[in-house]
Amino acid sequence: MGRMEGYVPRSADYIKAGTAPSHYPTTGKPEVAFVGRSNVGKSTLINRLTGRKGLARASNTPGRTQLIQFFDVADRWVFADLPGYGYAKVPPSIRKAWGPMINTYLEVRDPLRLVVLILDIRREPGSWEHEFLDWLNDHERGVLIVATKMDKVPKHKRKAAVNKLSKALGLSSACVFPFSALSGDGRADLWDALKAATEGMDDG
Ligand code: GDP
Repeated sequence: MGRMEGYVPRSADYIKAGTAPSHYPTTGKPEVAFVGRSNVGKSTLINRLTGRKGLARASNTPGRTQLIQFFDVADRWVFADLPGYGYAKVPPSIRKAWGPMINTYLEVRDPLRLVVLILDIRREPGSWEHEFLDWLNDHERGVLIVATKMDKVPKHKRKAAVNKLSKALGLSSACVFPFSALSGDGRADLWDALKAATEGMDDG
């Protein structure tokens, strides 16, 4: 599988959280947004990437307003942790607000350079994922797929699983990054891709 370890940012700090554009941070640093179904392993991934265990927390407490959480990473990037979708216990009113909030963010957010869509390697992508990818494509937003929980797939089946997932998404397997938060596998490759997608674009 992918290379482990790799880059560790010298700092990673919570900036703020919010729902509307007036709440977004104004640093202008290149931004990477993370999105995925609840419980897919999004918080664990952000913590693994930044090397900070408690930075992102699963915020799926039912009834709580779902917020976009912003983090400063190494004074070089902003990571935007978009609330997870598909959590059954979230009340309908809050579930309803999710779409417009994410829509607005993806439409208006200037510093956004890359959307990281996190999928569980064991799950077939559903209609939500397909629609989301189409939407990003229409809006010319760069996207990268992380196939997480690779450790749950036996070693000899991993390559085939990644190929199957990329095929199901209609993407080249080069767009799918295998990852395991448990072992750290794939971490270095993912960082390389994040850097490649954001470098040279920071005009600050
Ligand atoms: P979130 O709701 O998407 O933020 O999900 P979490 O990061 O809270 O993770 C959900 C569950 O999946 C937790 O029990 C994690 O320990 C587990 N998990 C996350 N990533 C991995 C992984 O790569 N491998 C395995 N085996 N478990 C993982």
